[in-house]
Amino acid sequence: MYASSLLSAIGNTPLVKLPFKSPATILAKLEYLNPGGSMKDRSALYMVEQAEKRGDLKPGGTIIDASSGNHGIALAMIGAAKGYRVVISVSQKCSKEKYQTLLAYGAEVLVCPPTDFIEHPDSYHSQAKALLAKTPNSFMPNQYFNIENAHGHYHLLGTEIWKQTEGKITHFFAGTGTGGTVSGAGRYLKEQNPDVKVYGIDAATSFHATNGNPKPYKIEGLGIDFDSDVIDYSVINELINITDPEALDMLKVLAHQYGFLVGPTTGAVAAAVQKKLSEFKEGDLVVAIFGDSGRAYLSKNFYSEPVDQITLSPRIIDQSNQTL
Ligand code: PMP
Repeated sequence: MYASSLLSAIGNTPLVKLPFKSPATILAKLEYLNPGGSMKDRSALYMVEQAEKRGDLKPGGTIIDASSGNHGIALAMIGAAKGYRVVISVSQKCSKEKYQTLLAYGAEVLVCPPTDFIEHPDSYHSQAKALLAKTPNSFMPNQYFNIENAHGHYHLLGTEIWKQTEGKITHFFAGTGTGGTVSGAGRYLKEQNPDVKVYGIDAATSFHATNGNPKPYKIEGLGIDFDSDVIDYSVINELINITDPEALDMLKVLAHQYGFLVGPTTGAVAAAVQKKLSEFKEGDLVVAIFGDSGRAYLSKNFYSEPVDQITLSPRIIDQSNQTL
């Protein structure tokens, strides 16, 4: 058996038991095993294919977007596989690995100065829009403002989790940046069973978490920093705010003790699951999105501290279950 193309290999990622001490079954959805390395493969593919169907993107066209992260990488991969030119604008804050990954897929990269607001004419978002206006046959998926971002996760991720768990999922945890993952997959799951609890994980000092007084944080890709239609608060039971140290401590535990080498948003998601452990009961089935791999962040030295310096309480991890 084989996939007929690279893009048809997106999805069908494994659900793996997490050895946290709990009467519930806690499963990690290993989205970092997608071909482009994150769950953004799903939403990016959906947005591109909808644009093709509408005729907004035709053969020989150019995909342009602003992204310092996995969305841009997914577009670069999809463009390479489908034969489109791809131009991604990034902020100077973009990690070296991500910048080099975009170039490795053959995308052109426009590096822009960091700005406080995306409306600023120099921002990577404004520069992508300016380039779009002067490039014929070009399409901007625009993940922060395109509701199809959430629709992609509704159709491709929500359905898959429902099938994989045979409809038994009771709790769903996903990192929240644009809100596409938690809103899209969360909405599908809630439509199947309104009792499913949906948790969005936000950065503790994001625009939303601080009521408009954000402070810088290290967890790349997480944090509700814009008001947009992509995020549907009506499907989210609770937004859990996670600090940098909570996410980064958990990252080391996952890598050093359990072999999950994951990115900082996943550290935040697992830290949120940890905070909720006391609420889970026998028979609950928890699914947490493990969105990308730690390999994209090695230059940030998040993983190098010895594990015995980690302050996390051993009580939350079931040491006896390490082989599960
Ligand atoms: N986790 C990872 C690894 C991501 O790349 C992103 C998006 N930048 C998120 C979580 C947040 O997902 P969403 O934009 O769908 O809310």
